[in-house]
Amino acid sequence: MDGGDVKIKKLPDDVIAKIAAGEVVANPASVVKELLENALDAGASNVEVLARRGGKSYIKVADDGVGMSAEELQLAVQRYTTSKISTMEDIYGLKTYGFRGEALASIADVSRLVITTSNGVESTKIEVVGGKLVRVAPAYRERGTTVEVHDLFFNVPARRKFLSSEKIEGRMIVETVERFVVSKPSIGFVLKLEDDVVYNLKPGVLVERFKVVFPDAKETLELDEVETFGRVDGVISTPEYLRRNRTGQMFFVNGRFVIDGMMNLALERGFGELLQAASGKPFGVVFLTIDPRMVDVNIHPQKLQVKFSDPKAIYEAVTRAVRSSLRKFRTFTIDFNAAVRTEPGGVQVREAGAAAPLNAVREQEHTTTPRGGRGTSGSGSYPLTQLTPFTRTLSSSEVLIVRNRYIVFEEDDGLTIVDFHAAHERVIFEKLRERSFERVDLLLPLEIQVPGSLARVAEEIRTELGESGFEFDIDDGKIVLRTIPSLLSVTVARDVFLDTLEEYRLPFGKPKSLHHVLASKACKAAVKTGDRLSNDEALALISQVREKNLLTCPHGRPIVMKLPFSDLDKFFGR
Ligand code: ADP
Ligand code: MG
Repeated sequence: MDGGDVKIKKLPDDVIAKIAAGEVVANPASVVKELLENALDAGASNVEVLARRGGKSYIKVADDGVGMSAEELQLAVQRYTTSKISTMEDIYGLKTYGFRGEALASIADVSRLVITTSNGVESTKIEVVGGKLVRVAPAYRERGTTVEVHDLFFNVPARRKFLSSEKIEGRMIVETVERFVVSKPSIGFVLKLEDDVVYNLKPGVLVERFKVVFPDAKETLELDEVETFGRVDGVISTPEYLRRNRTGQMFFVNGRFVIDGMMNLALERGFGELLQAASGKPFGVVFLTIDPRMVDVNIHPQKLQVKFSDPKAIYEAVTRAVRSSLRKFRTFTIDFNAAVRTEPGGVQVREAGAAAPLNAVREQEHTTTPRGGRGTSGSGSYPLTQLTPFTRTLSSSEVLIVRNRYIVFEEDDGLTIVDFHAAHERVIFEKLRERSFERVDLLLPLEIQVPGSLARVAEEIRTELGESGFEFDIDDGKIVLRTIPSLLSVTVARDVFLDTLEEYRLPFGKPKSLHHVLASKACKAAVKTGDRLSNDEALALISQVREKNLLTCPHGRPIVMKLPFSDLDKFFGR
């Protein structure tokens, strides 16, 4: 630095404006985000978003919020004009998304912006091109505001070049809207890309919205934990519904969407070993409501990161909330999966079962519990949790079959109730997993006409299907099934095979294990046949279940419930 002929110049105002605009407006999705925030800040109950060409040529966000007067409208498009705060202190008590007063001005600088608004008294339309006010005129509109953004970055070609393809920009808009769809379930949303209606949602509740946005998470559990610093709530999927990546996870801190890798880990840690057998990521929408002083919501408009003053406490709370929600759902799993072994010295203790994938919660927290101790482990959602299943002899070979579903029988320490279908499913699952079945050659190979996409799926998972007993050829549009597993009858096998292929055709990743899918399909197929369960079948099933100490279905739902005589005696005052 020998200090040559350096001249420091002030940049022209329009260049400064464009640089500033770049901070808020990165791409069409960021415009949608800002406009949606404004709509919600304005108290809208219904919002409509329309984008054309990935938002590059046109974005419209219309709301039914409070609207603006003509005067407010003209101020709104100027930089640093906001109706939301006036002092620095206000920022900390903020209940709104916006406060910088930059978004509209920034968008106006780099597009042709048209806003039509009405506060219920007067209606006004304004047009701003590249930051220059072109027109203000009275208009007609119901109360609310419509913001239209034409030709984003038309005057900043360098930025326009950096936009992604229409498809990707459009996808980012969808993701942006989805964040609002789940975090604001009481607001109605319509999203259209070109003329396709992506979402048309009436005001609803979180669980519904979760299922709309993540249709592949078919079973959900609610989170709700109150912590000293605030609250953790939301929705997660049960561990059998997974994606290959983390696109099924969203986190919000005090209502704002945030990206935080540690939070993803905290969520996944809550699932513990439930995920280990599977190679996938769970779904979860988690809301943290915390004292604003415990979090630095970076006031940079584009940065979605946050900084917590006590990150460990926050992440642990998320893990705890997930674990406790899973535990409520799997109270039975916790106790039931215990096997009994004899300690040296003759003391019997319950110990962690074999490598059952569904018992993480218990394994982490209830490794050994003295036998006979009351069921202090569960969350108490079920009163009869002192269970020492299948350790004694059957007192009678008489069983009672109730509703063609429950098998009730007597053991020497209590009454035991088994859910037939859940048990059946688990037995099939175990056999598939241990490969303890025969492969049956079909004398007459089964010809199944299938669409090309299914044939492709079959080809993709040919090895796994083969290991499960299904061997086949593919012959111009036909699948010719040569062998089936001995677990299934021929008629059931065909349906199970097809249903399984369908399952793998779903757009969102592969199911976590073929055995899971096969077992549940096999079980459903068996249910469909509607046969009445005979006493012998019931006994055969019970003996298989007892032998292996199977206590939950492959999805973790309980198979067995026990009513100990001691509890009965207590109840009846004996
Ligand atoms: P901020 O949201 O940070 O205040 P914006 O530039 O996004 O800044 O908006 C400026 C102002 O314009 C807001 O404070 C609000 O008063 C008004 N405004 C923007 N959008 C709307 C809308 N959809 N409905 C009513 N008022 C709006
Ligand atoms: Mg705003």
